[in-house]
Amino acid sequence: MKAASFAYERPHSVSAALDLLANANGGARIMAGGQSLGPMLNLRLVQPQLIIDIAGLAELRTVDRDGADLVIGACLTHADIEDGRIPDVTNGVMRRISAGIAYRAVRNRGTIGGSLSHADPAADWVTTLTALGAGVRLTSAAGRRDLAVAEFIQGALQTALRPGELVTAIRLPALPPTARFGYAKACRKPGEFAHAMAAVLIEPDKSRSRIVIGAIDRTPIVVDDSSLFGGTLTNLKQQFDRDLADRLLMRAGVTDTADRHIHVTVLARAIAEAAA
Ligand SMILES: Cc1cc2nc3c(=O)[nH]c(=O)nc-3n(C[C@H](O)[C@H](O)[C@H](O)COP(=O)(O)OP(=O)(O)OC[C@H]3O[C@@H](n4cnc5c(N)ncnc54)[C@H](O)[C@@H]3O)c2cc1C
Repeated sequence: MKAASFAYERPHSVSAALDLLANANGGARIMAGGQSLGPMLNLRLVQPQLIIDIAGLAELRTVDRDGADLVIGACLTHADIEDGRIPDVTNGVMRRISAGIAYRAVRNRGTIGGSLSHADPAADWVTTLTALGAGVRLTSAAGRRDLAVAEFIQGALQTALRPGELVTAIRLPALPPTARFGYAKACRKPGEFAHAMAAVLIEPDKSRSRIVIGAIDRTPIVVDDSSLFGGTLTNLKQQFDRDLADRLLMRAGVTDTADRHIHVTVLARAIAEAAA
């Protein structure tokens, strides 16, 4: 099947893109890398009257510092991040995660803002940026607002984006050198979307941890106390409470025992990495 016909615009600025979006009365769709939107168009799951292609907007490829945070444009591609075209404020986490997304051809086009906006529960950035405590900047003709990624993602393919809004930037908090990060996912074959994934951030200096279990068909499970380790951040591997993780998954609607086993095993791997 091929896409239904649509009009196509390539605006030269963010404000021109926002004008097009506002004037389309809900009939327009933003295209960044087209890696998710392309297949959806071809399958006629979406049939917009107008595509607004923002991929070439230099304003959405900026890299700025804001104190210790790094603010990166929404149209930076996974390959930009993989290749180190943004400063490394996450001790290598961003580079490593981007390198594990799909195949290089997808990474060359797919953008970090597009991935978040699409909000596939199995997307690597959804889980990773939630674990890192990252933020997302939304801009519309009325102004801009900043949300935590955890607030932005509202469900499978659901976000807090309002009509007329664009994701324009992602805010990455700098990780202290002592922070430890673990990440694991289970895919049927390399380069494919994961059916289980987990990210573990441990900040020993602040006695703080954030555990995120992704790929669960709804918002990721976030545990930002040490309850999964019996209330302490020492001996993470030994203290990991598999039964509690299983119950959290059950409560989040993962009713299949085998699926929960895979999720808990993937989480145990991420914890082992953070603990190493
Ligand atoms: C074969 C294949 C394998 C893949 N495997 C993985 C994987 O393993 N892990 C993974 O994380 N991802 C995977 N992906 C998805 C890929 O990472 C895409 O890059 C991503 O989902 C969408 O980014 P995009 O820039 O292409 O967005 P597009 O496809 O252009 O847009 C996606 C959606 O977001 C909206 N949108 C895009 N940008 C903005 C914006 N700035 N503001 C508001 N709305 C916006 C669009 O309107 C559309 O609804 C895979 C894709 C393919 C084709």
